[in-house]
Amino acid sequence: MEQTLVIVKPDAVARGLIGEVIRRFEAEGLVVCGLKMVWLAQKEAEGFYQVHRHRPFFESLTHFMASGPCVMMVLEGEKAIGCVRTLMGATDPAEADEGTLRRSFATSIEKNVVHGSDSAASAAFEIPYFFNRLEIIPVAERGETSLA
Ligand code: ATP
Ligand code: MG
Repeated sequence: MEQTLVIVKPDAVARGLIGEVIRRFEAEGLVVCGLKMVWLAQKEAEGFYQVHRHRPFFESLTHFMASGPCVMMVLEGEKAIGCVRTLMGATDPAEADEGTLRRSFATSIEKNVVHGSDSAASAAFEIPYFFNRLEIIPVAERGETSLA
């Protein structure tokens, strides 16, 4: 089992797409095991996207990510990291495959609806950036109430 961090970005939250984003992931068998809404401070957005700090779009990206609330979630499943990336589609919606979240809903390469960890190493940094241990409930710890 793998865990990955997904963010419903401020553009998608503002447009009422939280449910649709989560629905598409659940429809593929991914399980929500952590979930919350957070309005990032500028510094928190900069820390999260620190790998991009030298990129020309860094300032614009971090302002966008701090422009309104995001929904953060931890999704769990077999090959969850790759599965989420496939369902998201390419960064630029013009290049995203038909049926992907970004092809369906993104309005620009920046306002592209959703973030997903791009590797196990990224997930290991990103999940604890937003969630503590008590806020993540893996399927394996759910006992008899689990439907999975
Ligand atoms: P994310 O990390 O958000 O899941 P990604 O892995 O597909 O997206 P990255 O290269 O990590 O893409 O870029 C992070 C985010 O920065 C993108 O999702 C997008 O919001 C923004 N971004 C990337 N490239 C550009 C660009 N050329 N111009 C403006 N914004 C960009
Ligand atoms: Mg990325």
